[in-house]
Amino acid sequence: MLGYHDQMADTEGHTPRDGSRGGGSDPARVKRSLAYPAPVERLLAELTRLPGIGRRSAERLAFHVLKHDREDADRLAQAIADVKRAIGHCSVCSNLTEADPCPICCDDARDRGTVLVVEQPKDLIALEQAGMYRGLYHVLLGSLSPLDGVGPEDLTLAELVERIRKPGANAGGVRITEVILGMNPTVEGDGTSLLLMDRLAGTGVTISRLARGLPAGWSMQLASKAVLADAIEGRVRVAEP
Ligand SMILES: [Zn+2]
Repeated sequence: MLGYHDQMADTEGHTPRDGSRGGGSDPARVKRSLAYPAPVERLLAELTRLPGIGRRSAERLAFHVLKHDREDADRLAQAIADVKRAIGHCSVCSNLTEADPCPICCDDARDRGTVLVVEQPKDLIALEQAGMYRGLYHVLLGSLSPLDGVGPEDLTLAELVERIRKPGANAGGVRITEVILGMNPTVEGDGTSLLLMDRLAGTGVTISRLARGLPAGWSMQLASKAVLADAIEGRVRVAEP
């Protein structure tokens, strides 16, 4: 008797065992027999909702899950459940965190008067790994992208302006004196930088941007630690208070 995987491998190959081309006299019946069992289809449907996962990738992931131990699958399911239960956004900087405020905002050894604005938590992690920066961050949770329907209201811009205007909203109640624009060197990143400069005008902060060691179109996560460290150290003033 065939196991689940063998049957599915058949189905994935779209080559029926009898060598026919999958037509037959009853297309509806053939179509039904090519569908995976309902629980597998449900898993595929959920996986294809993830970014960058098409039907083929979802099938590959589903086969992987089916091939491995029950404990592996339980661990994966638990990790997904835990991340939603235990992780939230820092109420100060919007970084992902287990504790609120996040450990970076709580670290009073850091320069709380300087805030480096990034698009995503992964950019913050890349910059932290460069080990050069000792100020705070603000995570926008995206970049301006009108074509994808991402407007200013979808970013944490209002929270940033609040942190600047009201020191009590910043970590440690410290007044912010410098904002460093750390957006990726892309069309969306540049547009976001312009928007920020507009919103921050008149707030009394110095605005800098990271030095352009990063080639246009690159993302921060691809840059080496040395390039990121240089980008922070060589930052350029773009607006004085
Ligand atoms: Zn924080």
